Amino acid sequence: MNFELNETQKLVRDTARRFATTELRPHAAERDRSEAFPGEALKKMAELGLMGVNISGDYGGSEAGTVAYSLAITEIARADAAVGVTMAVTNMVGEVIEMFGTPAQKEAFIPKLTCGESKAGAFCLSEAGAGSDPAGMRTRATKVDSGWVLNGSKAWITSGEFAGAYIVWARTEMPEGGEKLSAFLIDPAAHEGISCGKPEDKMGQRGSNTVSLTFDEVQIPEDALLGKLGDGFKIAMVALDGGRIGVGSLALGLGTEALSLAIDYAKEREQFGQPIAQFQGIQFKLADMATELDAARLLCLRAAWMKNQAAQKGGRFTREASMAKLFSSEAAWRACDEAIQIFGGYGYTKEYAVERLLRDVRVTRIYEGTNEIQRVVIARDLSRNGL
Ligand SMILES: Cc1cc2nc3c(=O)[nH]c(=O)nc-3n(C[C@H](O)[C@H](O)[C@H](O)COP(=O)(O)OP(=O)(O)OC[C@H]3O[C@@H](n4cnc5c(N)ncnc54)[C@H](O)[C@@H]3O)c2cc1C
Repeated sequence: MNFELNETQKLVRDTARRFATTELRPHAAERDRSEAFPGEALKKMAELGLMGVNISGDYGGSEAGTVAYSLAITEIARADAAVGVTMAVTNMVGEVIEMFGTPAQKEAFIPKLTCGESKAGAFCLSEAGAGSDPAGMRTRATKVDSGWVLNGSKAWITSGEFAGAYIVWARTEMPEGGEKLSAFLIDPAAHEGISCGKPEDKMGQRGSNTVSLTFDEVQIPEDALLGKLGDGFKIAMVALDGGRIGVGSLALGLGTEALSLAIDYAKEREQFGQPIAQFQGIQFKLADMATELDAARLLCLRAAWMKNQAAQKGGRFTREASMAKLFSSEAAWRACDEAIQIFGGYGYTKEYAVERLLRDVRVTRIYEGTNEIQRVVIARDLSRNGL
């Protein structure tokens, strides 16, 4: 066992940290207020290789692996989780295309994502009536001579208004009878009939764009199918395994930022004639936050390492990815909450970043599969495969 990062991993982490510190953190509060999409920041991040951290150099990626990706997401989210989630979904979309796409699809879509020509990628799975249970979706792709016709609506789509690449899941009829989910890859600007709802007025991560999408008789070509007909559910589950490492790492960034701010504040703020950091009650909170976040970090990095191993040698990391997402988002939530407690009344105002961190961290317990669903995944894996 080796806990040392290699040179590439350190380089990616440090690059993300520098960018986050100089370019993201100073504007995070304003982005939260204005809900402005971070288009310029994302373009610069693409130039730094952060929009394809685990994507092959053949398609403009950094080819640095999932451990480096986890470290980068944590650094970006420490400064601005709204940018972090946009980066995470874009990386995930690029990886899914690389895993399941045809050579032509990879050539057409991935370099645009990694170089920033496409502002973002969008993962269009959830629907208003099908969140935890995507198999219940109603969007349909009907086969016609010229390709497919998409009809239906998606909900909660991160970057839906700005993305240059959509992966859209839909029901398809199978030649052997019955229906299965299939995935389709499209550039939304190239097709008529796609419309966006107005951005969701969210509690947190307000600088990320979250919209509903409607597909009304959208004609897409035959070769828009991503992977095999009927493989959509499998593709979604593989993508979510990786995505959960991203969300766990993002939550970790938020929790780490909250801890760092709480340590600084506790050393400065005086009550009863001494810094509050001198009180054991405060020290215990900081110690618990640090310990839980360290455990979260180890779970995220283990799952990331296993994903790297799986890419080389095969194998699964479903359980470990769900554990990382579950534990990290809960630990980060507790850390952000305790940080506000340590800031006292000041932490409850927008003057201090801890207020935003608590709002931003809340959704990490919901998206990429709620934490109840992570427990379902972990328990199912335990009963199938044992400890
Ligand atoms: C800001 C944001 C961004 C998002 N971005 C995307 C995106 O880019 N792409 C995308 O496809 N989706 C996205 N989502 C959707 C997200 O993945 C869903 O919100 C999530 O999967 C939960 O679905 P739901 O909201 O419909 O809740 P529901 O599925 O209705 O769940 C409601 C409650 O019931 C619980 N529940 C459901 N089933 C079970 C069960 N079997 N056992 C125990 N409890 C259960 C849930 O845990 C939850 O507490 C985003 C959501 C948000 C809020």
